[in-house]
Amino acid sequence: MKTVFQKIIDGELPAEKVFENERVLAIKDIAPHTPVHLLIIPKKHIASISEVTEEDIPLLGECLLIASQLAKQFHIEDGFRVLTNNGTDAGQTVFHLHFHLLGGRPLQHLV
Ligand code: 5GP
Repeated sequence: MKTVFQKIIDGELPAEKVFENERVLAIKDIAPHTPVHLLIIPKKHIASISEVTEEDIPLLGECLLIASQLAKQFHIEDGFRVLTNNGTDAGQTVFHLHFHLLGGRPLQHLV
């Protein structure tokens, strides 16, 4: 069964897109935790970081570059966080790899 992000990638569900190329889609999170909360989603189906292989290395780098560019575009370059939840115990709810880009307010230290 398709994940919600696969449906968005395939145009079957609407989303507020902020970036798209052939490999990566970025959208606004539907339930933002911070004033800026974007999701950077590789279009290739990878369930989570645990499923990444060596061939995905350029794709992951591109996702981080896009995160940095979006941080500038959304004026949060002075303080933002990029994270991915891996597995149910870490709070992952959509099993299609995605990076949260969070900012727009002071963020608590996690580590
Ligand atoms: P996870 O919990 O897997 O790390 O993150 C999933 C994120 O996807 C959550 O922050 C959730 O709010 C967001 N989300 C879930 N369904 C949708 C949707 O249909 N549209 C958008 N834009 N975000 C969604």
